[in-house]
Amino acid sequence: MRSIGLRTSVAVLTLLLAVLFLAACNNPAGPYQASEYIFGTRIDIEISGLPPDRARAAADQVFAFYRQLHSELHAWQPGALMTLNQTLAAGKPARTTPHIRELIRLSQQYEAASGGLFNPAIGKLIALWGFHNDEPQAQPPSAAQVKDFMAQLPHMSDYHIEGDTVTSDNRNGWLDFGGIAKGWAVDRGMEMLRRAGVKNAIINAGGDLKGIGSHGDRPWRVGVRDPQGGVLAALEVGENEAIFTSGNYERFYQWHGKRFHHIIDPRSGYPAQLSSSVTVISQNSTLADAAATALLIAGVQDWQRTAADMGMNTVLVVARDGSLLMTPAMKKRLQLLDQKPVKTH
Ligand code: ADP
Ligand code: MG
Repeated sequence: MRSIGLRTSVAVLTLLLAVLFLAACNNPAGPYQASEYIFGTRIDIEISGLPPDRARAAADQVFAFYRQLHSELHAWQPGALMTLNQTLAAGKPARTTPHIRELIRLSQQYEAASGGLFNPAIGKLIALWGFHNDEPQAQPPSAAQVKDFMAQLPHMSDYHIEGDTVTSDNRNGWLDFGGIAKGWAVDRGMEMLRRAGVKNAIINAGGDLKGIGSHGDRPWRVGVRDPQGGVLAALEVGENEAIFTSGNYERFYQWHGKRFHHIIDPRSGYPAQLSSSVTVISQNSTLADAAATALLIAGVQDWQRTAADMGMNTVLVVARDGSLLMTPAMKKRLQLLDQKPVKTH
């Protein structure tokens, strides 16, 4: 979801799904599959067990909704969120959409649950680091710029909602839902499919996905990307489960030989340094998206505590040295494709 700051998350590869899609193309009775490029990432919807015309109508409805969300939630291009951010930055109250109000409320919960690691109010800091551009700008801010921002660090708790109107106590706040909107959109899209009578489907947003039902007589199955390249492991997607990954390799630029990526630690104002990627499994893809981002920032030291605080019990962390840290629930699920040092917690 690059265009709303989310950018492509290719952390969970869709190799296996791609094979299934090919099979479907050759088989008129096979699953229906459609893709669109929205939120700066490729969205794949695959539906099985329905006549193609009904499956197409259901998927088209979801894509139409996503096209509308794309501008509504964009963090740095004209749309409802941009208007809200500009009005609040001018110190005025602003009416906004039900979707944005819901994302504010959810983000307030997740900021609190993550001990402040997940903080979508830091849009100005993300812009300062060069990520409010389709192509990240290849130069970090000065230490003084970061320090100035941190002196007035905005929080989600600065925002107040009354009726359809939002106010903020901190004019330094700028909402960027890049760490949560894709998960929220996947949850909403899956609800739309269910209402249209779909019982077996996958919505895959650039590798972050949710599934219901099965693929014929087999479960849906996806690959987990190795941050160093290739595929690390496979996972079967359980009923109504979301599998979301955040990685420090998703969006970044190099400056004087150093890599700067798009997930910023609100404690320091600098890109999070600790892990390479975090994959979580949850029934709630909105929470999964926020938690993957927060756990990446928590790093190898703090991920367990943050996972427990956010209610995530199926978690994989790939540390910067390539070693794997995971919860016992993840250990039961992960099908490793290679021998890797595994530490279970
Ligand atoms: P991706 O969507 O690229 O897979 P994430 O879900 O982790 O990855 O979202 C990253 C995006 O989240 C960033 O591009 C930025 O818009 C936003 N973001 C960065 N740091 C934070 C943070 N500390 N809290 C909340 N959102 C953040
Ligand atoms: Mg996220």
